Parts: sequence; C-alpha cells; structure tokens
Amino acid sequence: MPMDDPFRFADELGPLKLVHIWRPTVGLKAVVAIDNIACGPAVGGVRMAPDVSAEEAFRLARAMTLKNAAAGLPHGGGKSVIFADPKMPIADKERLIRAFATAIADLADYIPGPDMGTDELAMGWIHDETGRAAGLPRELGGIPLDEIGATGFGLVAAIEVAAEHLRLPLAGARVVIQGFGSVGKHAARFLAEKRAVLVAASDTQGTIADDNGLDVAALIALKAGGRPLCEHPRGKKLAGDAVIDIPCDIWIPAARPDVIHIGNVARLHTKLVAQGANIPCTAEAEAALAARGVLVLPDFIANAGGVICASIEYQGGSEATAFAAIDEKIRSNTQAVLDRVAAGQTLPRAAAVGLAKTRIERAMRTRRWDH
Ligand code: NAD
Repeated sequence: MPMDDPFRFADELGPLKLVHIWRPTVGLKAVVAIDNIACGPAVGGVRMAPDVSAEEAFRLARAMTLKNAAAGLPHGGGKSVIFADPKMPIADKERLIRAFATAIADLADYIPGPDMGTDELAMGWIHDETGRAAGLPRELGGIPLDEIGATGFGLVAAIEVAAEHLRLPLAGARVVIQGFGSVGKHAARFLAEKRAVLVAASDTQGTIADDNGLDVAALIALKAGGRPLCEHPRGKKLAGDAVIDIPCDIWIPAARPDVIHIGNVARLHTKLVAQGANIPCTAEAEAALAARGVLVLPDFIANAGGVICASIEYQGGSEATAFAAIDEKIRSNTQAVLDRVAAGQTLPRAAAVGLAKTRIERAMRTRRWDH
C-alpha cells in the first residue's frame, strides 16, 4: 500500500511535528499535530471520534495556530485526534485516555484541551499522567468555561465593537440565534443584559420566534430541563431551517459548520453576522454577504473566549481574570480587524488571518521555535 507523504501539509509555518501513536495492547490509535510554537507551547483540543484523520488533526492544529495568535495568547497551535467512539464505557475510556496521556508525556510543547468527545474529566486524567492540560475540573483549579459562558461573553464583546462601527445601538437591536447550547444561550443572556431583543432562536427540534422578543431566562431554564425551545408557551413554532429567514440586525450561528452557503445566503436579512460556531459560512457565502454590505465577524476572532479562558486557567489565573482578558483581547482584536478591513478593502476573514500571521511571523523572528 503506498504511504501518504507525511510532509504533504508542510509549509512555512509548520507543522513542526506530526506524531502517529499506535499502542496495540490497549487499541490506542491517535495522531498529534503540533503546528507552530513560535508564540509559545501549542494549546489545542483532543478530539475523539471513529472517523478522524491525520489531515483533520493538522487542519485543526493550523486553525488553533491562527486563533491563538489572533487572540494574542502566548500559545501556538496543536490538536490531537483519537480514533475511537467516545460513547464507550467510562472505564474503557479512562484506560484509553490515560494510555494516550502516557504516549504524549514527552511532547512538552503540546498542552491538550477538551474538544468533541472529550471533557474536563478526560483532561483531569491527562493532567494526572502528564501534569499538562487545560479545561480541567474546578476541583483541580479549572475554570468551567461552558458553564460560565466564556465564549458567549466574548462573542458579545465582539458584537458590541462591531455594532458601534455600524452605528447600531444594541438596546433594541433584533437578534436571531441558531443553536442554543453553551455558546448560543450565553450570547443570548449577555445580549439581553444590553437590552437587545431576541426575536428567534433554534435548536435541533425547531425554531421559536416572537417579534415582541422572547424571554431569554425562560428559554435557558427550558433547555436546562432538557426540553426543546419549541415547548416555550409563547411565540411562533417554526421548522429549524426557518431561523435563516427571520429578518434581524444581528444573526448568530452557534451550532454547526457550513450552515450558510451559496444556496441559502440570499435568505439571510441582517446587518451583522457574528460567528459563534466554527466555520458556519462557506467562503462563497462570506463573499456574497460582504458584497451585500453585511459585516461578518470571523469565527476565530469572535469565538476565542473559550481558548482565552483555557489559557488563563493554564497560567493559574482566576475566573475574574479570565473574563477581563476575554473582554480586553476580543474588543481590541475585533477593532484591529475592522481597522484593517477599512484600510485595505479586504474581507474580515482575510484581515483576521493577516493579523494572526503578522503576530506569528514576528514571534518567529524572535524565537528559535523550530530547533
Ligand atoms: P453545544 O452542543 O453546547 O450546543 C449546540 C446547540 O446547537 C444545541 O442547542 C443544539 O440543539 C443546536 N444545534 C445542533 N444542530 C443544529 C441545527 N442543525 N440547527 C439548529 N440548532 C442546532 O455546542 P457549543 O459548545 O455551544 O458549540 C456550538 C458551536 O460553537 C460549535 O461549532 C463549536 O465548535 C463552536 N465553538 C464552541 C466553543 C465553546 O466554548 N463551547 C468555542 C468556540 C467555538
């Protein structure tokens, strides 16, 4: 069988190391991608799924290199994937994760964090074996970033900066949110504090909409009880996809990738798209929105609250320090992207990538990062 060329991903930034791990006695198959560490040790999640690949590990690691640099964190980017079903019995999962931790113990430039299929408990096991992990349980000094709404909080900081740029007052602004989980519900909560009006929200079961504004606290309580949004007694109940058609000032994707594409982008009537989810719009859809004068806040600028929180946790900081850092970094980075867009007639995503690459290249000039 021909071997794939392991250097097919190599470019001027990395990846510095692509480590394939195979432990036959425990059935552990994993890949760690350490992309670029010029800004500091690589932080990035451990994804457990049956259908992952080395390519996915590398692409996610590169995304983390850009995200961490754009956020101004002292961290490079990395990511790891474990080929396994995360729903396996917990004792088997612990054995596998501990074996993974032992296998990466010497990769001192990689700090694992939670991702799809892993959680704070898994990070606790990895920390126990290696002394390195972010996103730890509270008992081990962790800051529970999903519980406190770190990413939703940062998203709203980015929205506030962009709204000022658009001269759009947040008080009374009409908001629509797709996905009402860790990111979406906290974004709704922080926007409600600024007197924005949530006119529609969706989850996997459907969309709920009310022109007069939905009761955010009641919707959060409903989800906390494991109930779908559509069980809320007030508002219109619509299909899940209808969340795209509701006219608004601010549209927030907070669910899945590629939900806005060239086939449905014309249905979106809004002034600002604030990307809570990762890659929620295809490149063509982002270009189409820009051509219509819709401002799109790129994911890796606007949803960096979680990784900023993880970084502060790793440095031993408190929850209050984490909130202050998220607020300060996301506001200044959003402003920097908007300034670049205004100066260079470029799309926000290209401006954000440019900002991140400038920081990485500066760090690469000051540190002997690859030897
Ligand atoms: P979550 O699982 O807590 O919530 C996801 C929500 O989306 C749920 O309410 C679910 O019902 C809903 N959903 C799923 N498919 C949907 C669909 N097709 N239409 C409408 N709603 C749908 O996940 P999360 O942590 O909130 O993450 C959401 C997105 O944000 C993901 O893309 C994730 O990668 C990204 N993200 C999360 C964080 C974080 O800190 N949690 C940080 C950065 C990026």
